[in-house]
Amino acid sequence: MDIERSKALVIGEIEARHHQLGELSQKIHSNPELGFQEVKAADWLTQYLEENGFSVERGICELPTAFRGSYGQGKPAMAILAEYDALPELGHACGHNLIAASAIGAGVASKSAIDRFGGSIIVIGTPAEELYGGKAIMADRGAFDNLDIAMMVHPGTHNVATTEALACQALEVEFFGKAAHAASRPEAGINALEAMLQSFNAINSLRQHIKPKSRVHGIITDGGKAANVVPAHSAGVFLVRAEDDTYLNELKQKVLNCFIGVATASGTRLEYRWGDISYAPLRNNLTLAQLFRQNMEILGRKMPLSDPSSSFGSTDFGNVSQLVPSIHPFVAIAPVEEGVHSPQFATAAISEAGIQGLLDAAKALAMTVVDLVANPEIVVKVKDEFAGKIDD
Ligand SMILES: [Zn+2]
Ligand SMILES: [Zn+2]
Repeated sequence: MDIERSKALVIGEIEARHHQLGELSQKIHSNPELGFQEVKAADWLTQYLEENGFSVERGICELPTAFRGSYGQGKPAMAILAEYDALPELGHACGHNLIAASAIGAGVASKSAIDRFGGSIIVIGTPAEELYGGKAIMADRGAFDNLDIAMMVHPGTHNVATTEALACQALEVEFFGKAAHAASRPEAGINALEAMLQSFNAINSLRQHIKPKSRVHGIITDGGKAANVVPAHSAGVFLVRAEDDTYLNELKQKVLNCFIGVATASGTRLEYRWGDISYAPLRNNLTLAQLFRQNMEILGRKMPLSDPSSSFGSTDFGNVSQLVPSIHPFVAIAPVEEGVHSPQFATAAISEAGIQGLLDAAKALAMTVVDLVANPEIVVKVKDEFAGKIDD
């Protein structure tokens, strides 16, 4: 049968490129580059795509390390997203080297399916996931317009076909008080550090009454300069997260009220700024997730559709998933206690299990491409689900 033959072909393509993809992943891992500085990674990835018949545009969306490589012209237009940024000090502790190599592998392997059935495959290089929400910027600049489907696979500690990711926005706050000698004239001072500490207390009181899965957490970035001076200035950065945008907006106001109330009570002056990037919650397309899951199971990797025990944060892929029917499955490469953003996970990202995750992810992505190009009615179903015509 055509579809099975086509799937066998894409699997064979990825196995044949086992060493090249492993090397690509290893090179990116050994040369960690922070968000928007991923010059080497973007070079290696675009070069590989070009050598394999993709037409490549570099520096798309006015971001020098973003790119777009496409093969084929027709519909459906299916994007596979690559991430390749590292974390400060920890290097590739989020395993984005594996995401990059699996996206490239899946893209190149999908060529045979495009040649056979039509459609187009677009590998989109999306920089700065960790620090600047690159995909949110790219979404605003039109990078995901005119796509029918978007997919990427992230390494993690669970095999799971869907991802829960929260809406999230950052808040920077500053309190301005009045300096005075902390022992000889404390009555002359207005303590900006105390205002910050009271704000933490107010948020902690609020926490009991916020919806499950919402998160509010922060750090103090300035708490004064000397113990014998009443701090005239304090500063902090907070993140507010919620399951949907409506509740995020409600919660943002409640959190802000904590600071406003404390400013009034303490006599300090408050200045605040919401972050430019707002992360949207991730919307999983279950029709796509089912296809991906079935393909992973053909490869022998058991993958539940959802896993309540898997952890969640926020990702700029959420913003993509609001525009295009999307999936963002996780492939397990490390045990639960060695979660992402740990030195152990950085090691897992170059381990045998890491490579296996990369290859399985690339294969299952390309097999899903086969399903989509060979069955136009599935693409209709995916789009109907996205449009809300069937319950998601
Ligand atoms: Zn990360
Ligand atoms: Zn990540």
